This record gives sequence, structure tokens and C-alpha cells, in this order.
Amino acid sequence: MAYKRTEISERDIQRQLDICKRIKERNDGLYSSPLAMVDTYGCQQNEADSEKIRGYLREMGYSFTQNEEEADVIVINTCAVREHAEMRILGNVGALNHTKKKNPNQIIALCGCMVQQEHMAEKIKRSFRLVDLVFGTHELWRFPELLEQVMSDRKKRVFAIRDMEGVIAEGLPHARDSGIKAWLSVMYGCNNFCTYCVVPYVRGRERSRLPEDILAEAKALVEGGCKDITLLGQNVNSYGRDLGMGMDFADLLRQINDIPGEFLIRFMTSHPKDATEKLFRTMAECEKCARHIHLPVQSGSAGILKAMNRVYTPEQYMALVDLARELMPDLVITTDIIVGFPGETQEDFEDTLRLVERVRFDAAFTFIYSKRSGTPAAKMPDPVTREEKQERFDRLLALQNAISGEKHAAYVGKVMKVLVDDVSEDERCDFRGRTNGGRLVHIKGEDAALGEFADVKITGSSTWALFGELV
Ligand code: SF4
Repeated sequence: MAYKRTEISERDIQRQLDICKRIKERNDGLYSSPLAMVDTYGCQQNEADSEKIRGYLREMGYSFTQNEEEADVIVINTCAVREHAEMRILGNVGALNHTKKKNPNQIIALCGCMVQQEHMAEKIKRSFRLVDLVFGTHELWRFPELLEQVMSDRKKRVFAIRDMEGVIAEGLPHARDSGIKAWLSVMYGCNNFCTYCVVPYVRGRERSRLPEDILAEAKALVEGGCKDITLLGQNVNSYGRDLGMGMDFADLLRQINDIPGEFLIRFMTSHPKDATEKLFRTMAECEKCARHIHLPVQSGSAGILKAMNRVYTPEQYMALVDLARELMPDLVITTDIIVGFPGETQEDFEDTLRLVERVRFDAAFTFIYSKRSGTPAAKMPDPVTREEKQERFDRLLALQNAISGEKHAAYVGKVMKVLVDDVSEDERCDFRGRTNGGRLVHIKGEDAALGEFADVKITGSSTWALFGELV
């Protein structure tokens, strides 16, 4: 799909970094240690965007807090994927009235997918006057400039939301959460226009980062000690299509796999219509490629998949799964499923249950359909009651939880290689980590080392996690 690619120049990014310096000097005169809070809702892409916002704030001399009372600047990175997320965000923004009363100099900013929607930006303008700055998904690279505008005239509120097709901004500073695991965006936007989804309207057209920029970032991460890199895109499988370089996602995977070092490569999200035998063979041949694929099926009904504009059938989806498992028998497969899509009959829902029983996913993220204004599905007749949808949702969850529990139980007795990435919140254990397939493991063993791979004997399991002892 042709689109206007807008590559932000190095000079423009340098100007933003110069503004960061100016704000730092300004803050040095005002605060002993300026504090910022970045609150992120939604997907991994939003997490990755928040790391750039924190990168800019760090350049401005801010340290970070999770306490909104003490923050001088609060940035809320919003999500629009479901109504529930938006309601929660608006509730939390409204609750900031009390901090603003206590600290009128506090700056409150909103960004991300929710405010990229015109009707929501208007709502913030009209009903949330405590918000000083609103910037859309295509304006993130200009955050310093926009923040400085607010700082220079506190009576003025700044709204920067443009509907752009394809902004690519390289060279932004990152403040990553972890030195062990990292998000690495390979592309932005989506051209698929699934009928229930708001993403194509708020994230623009699919545009791939140049391979040399991605490889340079991956190399720097690995040299910096990162052991687990997740490549991000709304649909990574269409990587490279817009570059005209005859290169696709599988080729990119192979190039990252060639980077020296011991690390894992993960990626999300894959659209089944673009998942290929070449991709699966590349995963099987690349030793650093994690044995996990997140492959959202959304429904098991051919009629509903058509109404969703998913461009594959249940049979095609299952054939993909069979092929992937043939090439990688230990592959972990996870998925997303929507229940209660407009017009979903009981029979359609039974089709979904049958597919789940047939595929036996390791885990599934299940949702009740949420009407998104501006999407084609929002105009479709939707006779099924909320109660009926909730009942279907509960049945699906019960089935999938049983399957996940059985899948996890099958690990007991095995020794798994686990990347230790954090202390465990389970008081019976010391650390936690992830298997190559992305399974969560709580580990008993004080000698485990954060950021290192460890052999763990699995001694127990639950629906959501494994438990084990350091070997
Ligand atoms: S592939 Fe479909 S569901 Fe995923 S982001 Fe694109 S439009 Fe939304």
C-alpha cells in the first residue's frame, strides 16, 4: 500500500536534543532534582515508545518516580485497543486533579493511541483542563519542543496531533527498563484493517526501519549485555515490503542471528496471512531464534474471520500450525482470541472452541469484543447480549486454562535452560526467568545470576507458570 514516508532528519532530532539541554539548564535553576513519571498503558509498542520518552526526559535531567504526588512532569502513554483501557485512563487522569491542586507547576501530558483519535483529543481539550500537553503517535519525536512550549507559557495548552501516514524517526535516546531484555521496533503501523481494530487509524501505514539501523541497535544491545531481544511490529511478517530491497522479515531474522554473542531473538506480532514456510524454516535454522511464536487467530469460525477481514480460514490457520510444529516440534504457540464479535452465533463460537481444542495453544489472550468508533465492525449489527458473551468468554477461558495447565505439567521433571531476568515475587522462590519458549519459571536457588542463562529442573507447574530448582 503506497504511503508518504516521512524520515525525520538527523538535524531535526539534534534540535530536539538541544532543547533537552535547554530544559536541563532551566530545571537546574529551579529544582534540586527534577522528577518525572511515565505511565504506560497497552502493548509492547507503547512500552518501547515510553522508553524513548524516558530517554528524552533523562536528557533533560529528570530522574523517575512512580509517585504522581512528587512528579514535576507526568506523561501518560495511552492505549485505544479496548473501551475498558480508555475508561481506566480517563479515570486515572481525572484523579490527578488532587496532585495538580497541590502542585500547580506540575505538567501533565498525554500521548499515544487514545489521543491520536480526534474525538478523544477533543474530549481531553473540553473536559480535562488539568492536561497541559497532548501529542499524537506521529509527534513523539517532537516531545522536547512541545514540552518547552508548555514551559514557556503555562497559560497555554499544547495539542499536537497530526494524521500522518508514515513517520520514521531514528536516533532518539532510549531509557530502557531492563539491561537484560529489550524491545526493538523493526516497523510501525499496520495496513491490514481488521474490521474491529483501531490501530491502522492511529498508527498509520506500515513502514519498515532500514535494516542497517535495526542491526546497529541490535549489535549495541548485545554488546551492552542484553540477552533477550524482542523485535516489535504490529505485523512483523510484512517487514521490508515497503523498502523495495527484496528483503523480508525472515532475512532480517537471519542477519540478527549472525550477530556474535549468546542471546535470544523473539518477535511479535505475526499476522497468520503473512506467516510463511520460509519464516518457519528460518526460525528452525537460527539457533538464537526463540522457539515461540505469537500467532493471533482471533476466531475459529470461517464466517467471523471473513467479517473480521482476517484474510485466512480456520483450515489455513491450522495448516500453518501443523507446518510450524513439523519444523519445530518444541515450538510454543500463543494466540489472541476475540469472543462476541458482532454477529457471532453459538455455532461460530463452538467453531472457536473446536479450533482451540485442535491446536492446543500453550496460552491464549482472550477478550470480549470491544466496539471501537470509526471501525467497520462498530456499524455491524450486534444482537448477542453482554451476558451471553461473558458466558462464552468464561467457557473459552476454562478450556484454555485446562490446556495451559496440561502443557505446563508436561515440563515437570525436565531440565530447562532459563534466562534469569528478575527476582521472584513468589516468596518460596528466589528468582524468575523465561524459557526459550517464553514460559515463566520461578526458581529456587540463591546462586542464580541475573542476566545469565541457568539450567533449572522443573519440579512443579500451574496454569500460568513453572517452578523449579537451579541445577
Ligand atoms: S493486524 Fe489487524 S488486529 Fe493487528 S494491528 Fe493490524 S489491524 Fe489491528
